[in-house]
Amino acid sequence: MVLTYRYRIKDATCGRHLRRQAREVNRVWNYCGEIHNAARRHNKRWPSGFDLIKLTGGSSKLLGLHSDTVQAVCKQFAISRDTCGKRPRWRGRKSLGWIPFQASRALRVQGDAVTFLGRRYRLWLSRPLEGRMLCGAFGEDARGRWYLNLQVEILEDDKHGSGEIGIDLGLKSLVAISTGEKIEAPRLYRKHERALAIAQRAGRKPRVRAIHARITNRRKHFLHELSTRLVRENRRICVGNVNSCGLARTSLAKSVLDAGWSLLRSQLRYKATRHGAEYIEVDERFSTQVCSACAARGGPQGREGLVVRERVCSGCGARHDRDINSAINLLVSGRNVGLQQTVIPSVYGGEDVKPTDLQPQTSYHGRS
Ligand SMILES: [Zn+2]
Repeated sequence: MVLTYRYRIKDATCGRHLRRQAREVNRVWNYCGEIHNAARRHNKRWPSGFDLIKLTGGSSKLLGLHSDTVQAVCKQFAISRDTCGKRPRWRGRKSLGWIPFQASRALRVQGDAVTFLGRRYRLWLSRPLEGRMLCGAFGEDARGRWYLNLQVEILEDDKHGSGEIGIDLGLKSLVAISTGEKIEAPRLYRKHERALAIAQRAGRKPRVRAIHARITNRRKHFLHELSTRLVRENRRICVGNVNSCGLARTSLAKSVLDAGWSLLRSQLRYKATRHGAEYIEVDERFSTQVCSACAARGGPQGREGLVVRERVCSGCGARHDRDINSAINLLVSGRNVGLQQTVIPSVYGGEDVKPTDLQPQTSYHGRS
C-alpha cells in the first residue's frame, strides 16, 4: 500500500533556497493559469497537462527548478482544474510553499539527508527512509517550517489482534467501544481557547499560528496512539458513519471539529488495511434507539434526546449506557455487512449457503 511520510527538514539555512524555488513554482502555476485564460478567451478547448508541459518545456534551467518540478506543477494544475471545473486560484506570496517532484528521479537519499537539485537537505529522521519512493514534494506549513512529504510503497503485514469491536463516535466521550470502554475527548481546542483569544486580541499572528499548530499536533498525536492501539488489538472494527460535515454546520460545530472524527476514521481505515484487519463503516441510524439485548426500539430520539445518557429498556428491562449500547449495535450490523461482503469460510459448510441464509452472530439473545 502507499503511504505518505512526512519529515521535518533542518531548514535554518536551506529554507531560503526552498522559498526561492517555491516562488518559481508559483510563477509556473500562474503561467498555466494565464494559458488557461487565454485559451478560454479564444474559445479553444482547455489546455491539457501535456499541452502545458510542452509549453513550459526548457524553462526549468532559467527558473532554477528541477525539470521534474515544472512538469509536476503542470500536471497538478490540470488535475486541480479538472476536478473543480474551473481555473484554480492564483498562487501568491500568501500561498504556502510547495515544490513537487518525482522521487525516484529527482531525489537521492544518503543517511539522514537527501540531495535535491545538487543541494543537500538534512532531515529529522522520525522514521527510517525505506520502501519504494513514488513521488513527493517539499511543503511549507503556516509557521514557515519546511517538510519533505514522500509517497512510499510499503508492504502490508498481517499482524493484528483477535478482537471485534464496534465504535460509537461521540462528543461527550470521543470513543465508546462495544467492550464497555470509554475514552474521553481531549478537548484540546477548548483548553487553548483562552490563550488563543488573548493572542488574537493582541494581534500577535505568529503566536496564534503557534497555538493552532500545537492544538493540531496534540490532537493528531492523541488520535494516532488511539487508532494504533485499536488496530493492534482487533481484527474487525465497525464504525458509525457520523456525518461530521453536516454537524459542523450546527451549533455543535466547535466540539465536532475539535473531536477529529474524520481524522480518526481515516487513520483507522489505513491502519486496518496495513495490518490486514477489517474496517467497516456502518449506517448508524437507530443505533442509539435499538436495545442491544432484545432489539426493541424506543430509546431517546433527536437532538433533545442527547441529554439521555442512560436508560432502561422497556422491552427487557436491561440497563443501557447510551454510547456503549450504540457501539454494540454498530458491531452487530458491522458483522452482517462483513458476512455479505466476504467469502463465507468453509466452517459454515453445507451446499448453496447464501449469505442471507446465515444467521449472523448477533447479541440479540433475548429474542424469541
Ligand atoms: Zn431490551
